[in-house]
Amino acid sequence: RRKWGRVFGVLKDLEVSCETTVGRLRQVVDAMAVEMHAGLASDGGSKLKMLLTFVDKLPDGSEKGTYYALDLGGTNFRVLRVKLGGTRSSTLEHDVHQQDIPQNLMTGTSEVLFDFIASSVKEFVERETDDSKLSLDRRRELGFMFSFPVKQTSVSSGTLLKWTKGFAIEDMIGKEVAGCLEKAMTKKGLNMSVAALVNDSVGTLSLGHYHDTDTVAAVIIGTGTNACYLERTDAIIKSQGLLTASGGMVVNMEWGNFWSSHLPRTVYDTELDADSPNPNDQGFEKLISGMYLGDVVRRVIVRMSQESDIFEPISSKLYMPFILRTPLIAAMHKDDSPDLEEVGRILRENLEIPDVPLKVRKLIVKVCDVVTRRAARLAAAGIVGILKKIGRDGSGGITGGRSRSDHRMRRTVVAMEGGLYTEYTMFREYLHEALTEILGEDIAKHVVLIKVTEDGSAMGAALLAASHSSYP
Ligand code: ADP
Repeated sequence: RRKWGRVFGVLKDLEVSCETTVGRLRQVVDAMAVEMHAGLASDGGSKLKMLLTFVDKLPDGSEKGTYYALDLGGTNFRVLRVKLGGTRSSTLEHDVHQQDIPQNLMTGTSEVLFDFIASSVKEFVERETDDSKLSLDRRRELGFMFSFPVKQTSVSSGTLLKWTKGFAIEDMIGKEVAGCLEKAMTKKGLNMSVAALVNDSVGTLSLGHYHDTDTVAAVIIGTGTNACYLERTDAIIKSQGLLTASGGMVVNMEWGNFWSSHLPRTVYDTELDADSPNPNDQGFEKLISGMYLGDVVRRVIVRMSQESDIFEPISSKLYMPFILRTPLIAAMHKDDSPDLEEVGRILRENLEIPDVPLKVRKLIVKVCDVVTRRAARLAAAGIVGILKKIGRDGSGGITGGRSRSDHRMRRTVVAMEGGLYTEYTMFREYLHEALTEILGEDIAKHVVLIKVTEDGSAMGAALLAASHSSYP
């Protein structure tokens, strides 16, 4: 019972339903721009929340002084100190301290959690070497990167909407986050205030803008995905009369929840969504981010194994959701050895499928390619959607005589972060390729994607504390 034809049929169907022709990508671009507009028009006007951040000026390299950042967003937290010299080329010297959060504190009370964090921040401050020592009673300022859903009330305050990622501290919901931290720090005798409360995509945009002031947007594609960009305040219709000195404000799109009927969706995506703890939620994220790519591939392999005996004997491992993680997909995808040894090893060691013939290994590499390529190309379409919304996609440049006069297109930089983009070479290459296809070479050459460094977003939070300092 080999039934190769059926197995190839599964691949063929997958290719068809994952198709991302440039025409289809342009429809996604338009849908993204339209949804952005709707989300800015009214709360609940779109699946895109388009959250105000109150960040109205981004770091530009002129920041001076010593600032701190606290990054809380997972199982550990980091404290960081940056010394800024007032010019971009002067050192971005920094110290980092990272610490795990004890499991019991993630489900206890807010007071215990913040007391714990405040103690650690205080120890970090006390360990400062002499030349960076500010007198202990001088007020220090901190950028607080808090990667949970927050309703921002100012650049430095916001209330917690809900916990994610294993945290469950009931008394915190609805509380003002920066205030909780400041209270705990005061209790410890630490004179430090929160100058900026930001999420990680805003941190990435800040660091990008610090390095290159043509940066207008930031995109994170890691376990999950999100994007933010600089919008004109008069385009933020839902908060009429919003005034900022710069005339602009960073908008946190929460783009993982984007959806459009133009997105190519397969039966595997529908099943994955139905089995997920949040069905009908985060639709774009489920098509493009690292948390899900591996599981889509696994579901295709399950389907192939039902059509034929090519994977037999099958172990129950193949049926375990999320067992095939995205870095394994990347490793199989880049295997260029003649007999695809790495693919064989991963199938053997991770799915307990022994001795898969070369013909089948080739098929699996192709499945990884189809799923990853679709994700990368859709992410590219999302990015062009943002550019279109802010008039940086070249489509406004049509003048009499010449079409698309490229000299009118301004240099436009997008700061990129997240393991899928930074670690998965094929993903990154497909994304860049699609960007050029959608925009056309003349326009695409003005659009630059930059990777920001490892401590990226936390460093960005410290820079935002500097640019929003109350003691400039
Ligand atoms: P997070 O998004 O969890 O805060 P990262 O931005 O570092 O952290 O992203 C980690 C994610 O990136 C992983 O969950 C994984 O999906 C993806 N990733 C990491 N390394 C690789 C790799 N070598 N190949 C493909 N994907 C990777």
